[in-house]
Amino acid sequence: MVNKFYKFIIEKSNGRFIREQEIADKRNSIKANVDSPPRIELMLQKGVKENEANRKKLISGILHNFPNFIMAFKGVNKSIVTLNQNPLLPKKRATEAFIKNFEQYAFSLGISAIGYTTIQPKLIFKDKAVLYRNVIVITKEMDKSILEKGPNNKSFKLVWQTYDSLGKIANILTEYLRKQGYGAQSGPAMSGLSIYPLLGEQASLGAIGKHGLLISPKYGARQRIAVIYTSLDCNQTFENPHLWIKEFCNSCNKCIRNCPSQAIYQQRLKQSNGLETSIDSDKCLESFINNHGCSICITECPFSLTDYDKLKTAFLRKN
Ligand code: SF4
Ligand code: SF4
Repeated sequence: MVNKFYKFIIEKSNGRFIREQEIADKRNSIKANVDSPPRIELMLQKGVKENEANRKKLISGILHNFPNFIMAFKGVNKSIVTLNQNPLLPKKRATEAFIKNFEQYAFSLGISAIGYTTIQPKLIFKDKAVLYRNVIVITKEMDKSILEKGPNNKSFKLVWQTYDSLGKIANILTEYLRKQGYGAQSGPAMSGLSIYPLLGEQASLGAIGKHGLLISPKYGARQRIAVIYTSLDCNQTFENPHLWIKEFCNSCNKCIRNCPSQAIYQQRLKQSNGLETSIDSDKCLESFINNHGCSICITECPFSLTDYDKLKTAFLRKN
C-alpha cells in the first residue's frame, strides 16, 4: 500500500514537472537564473527516496490527512492546467477602487493578509519559471490553540488543511483577475515555484526569522503563504517596517535551542547569490517526517505567542 501510494505520487509529480517545464519553455516567461536555489521536493529528497522507514512514516502521515493532501495536490495541478485561460493581451493598470474591491474579496475568502511585490529571477527555484513579474502575496493564519498542543496528528492535519484552503483561495483569485482581463498565475501554498517567505518580506508582510519563516505582526510564524503572479502592476514601494525582527532574532535564538534536529544555524549563512539561508533542510526533514510535520520552531517563536507591539516596545527599550 505504502509503496503503491509513493509510486502514485511520483507519477503525479512527474506530470507536474513536465507542465512546469512548459512554463519555462515559454519565450516570455521569467526564468530562474544561475543564482536560483533548488526547490525541496519532499518525496524525492534523499531521506525519503532512499530510506524506506522514513518513506513509510511520511506516507502514513499523508494518508492520515488524505482528503486535504489530495485537495492541496489538485489545487497545484489546477494552477498549472488553467494557464492557457490567460488573456492574450492582459491589462496592467487598475484603479484604487479595483484594488480595494479585490482585497475585500480576498479577505472574504479567508486570507489573513495581502501584500504586493515583484519577483527577481534568483527568487525563482532552479530550472523553474513564472509568467508574470508582479506578485500578490497572500497569507492564512494557522490556529494557535491547535499548534500549541502539537506536534501531533491534529497540528499536522492543520498544516495540510491550510495548504488546501489557501491554495483554493489563490486559484479563485487568479480566476477572478483573469475574468477582469488581467494575466494571472496561481502559486498555491504547496509546491511553489519561488521562495515565498522572501516574497512575503519584500511585500512588507513581515520579516524572515532565524527559522527561515515569515514572521508577521499579527500571527508571528503561524501562517502559510501563497502567491499570484500577475500582469496587474500594483507594486508598493514603502519601506518594510518589520525588519527590526532580524535584530530581535540575534538576541533570542529560541527556535535554535528548541529545534529537535539542530537544523537551524546560529548565524544566517550568506550564499554566493546574496540570499541568506538559516536552515539545514535535510536535518529538518528528518524531524518533519518523524514528528507530525514538527513545526516546533513556529510554536516556540515569541512572535507566534506574544503581542507584536509588546515585543517591539520591550526590545526598543533594551536596545
Ligand atoms: S520544523 Fe522542526 S526540525 Fe525543522 S527547523 Fe523547525 S523545529 Fe527544527
Ligand atoms: S524564535 Fe527567536 S530567533 Fe527564532 S525566529 Fe523567532 S524570534 Fe527569531
